[in-house]
Amino acid sequence: MPNRKYIVGNWKMNGLQSELSDISGIAAIAAANPSVDAAICPPLTLIASASSQNPAFAVGAQDCHYNEKGAHTGCVSAAMIKEAGASLSILGHSERRADQHETDAEVKTKAEAVHAAGLGAIICVGETEEERDAGKAVDVVCGQLEGSFPAGADANWLTIAYEPVWAIGTGRVPEASDVEEMHAAIRSALGRLMGDGADAVRILYGGSMNGGNAAELLAVPNVDGGLVGGASLTAAKFGPIIEAAAAA
Ligand code: PEP
Repeated sequence: MPNRKYIVGNWKMNGLQSELSDISGIAAIAAANPSVDAAICPPLTLIASASSQNPAFAVGAQDCHYNEKGAHTGCVSAAMIKEAGASLSILGHSERRADQHETDAEVKTKAEAVHAAGLGAIICVGETEEERDAGKAVDVVCGQLEGSFPAGADANWLTIAYEPVWAIGTGRVPEASDVEEMHAAIRSALGRLMGDGADAVRILYGGSMNGGNAAELLAVPNVDGGLVGGASLTAAKFGPIIEAAAAA
């Protein structure tokens, strides 16, 4: 089992240069809790400043293109985000799967591109409320995982984030027993996909995690960290989650 928790903040489309001090504050809390791996994924426009101001802290992107370069207006490649200072990228977030119609096949090729560039990848999977109500949550999530699973996957660079769509930004969190069931199913699916190496892959929980519920969520078997949106935007909110991970 992975022995280091991984706490990642997803700033989504939030953050101007004036908010860089929050990343520095978060980096300081991360440095004070060295048993935890922590990272912030700000908008692309802040990656270079955030990483140069906090050279010991991991800064990531929220997406990248699967091609190295070419006629893809508005897109950036893995090499580009790496050059800006990113060491990882979130991929296949449900907001991108919904808004940009990203498919599992695209997420897979993006993860392979990120790996080829020497970066870490966090692949997001998660069911909608309708899918959960229909009893299909495990099948949907494991299907996404299989379809998005990159060639050459290894725990050194691949992380999975289970994010129930209905829990993102809503303040609603699944029962611990439901999180446990899903993370166990993801672990089993990883075993089928990659064999023994599956045990070392970190599986993050994401969806309305905050300083008040992090300890309980991080204590669930097979929850190896958290992917955090709203509660990652300030050091005051994100710091307690890093500290909860250190205590877990
Ligand atoms: C997310 O979007 O990855 C997320 C987990 O958001 P929130 O924590 O705000 O629910």
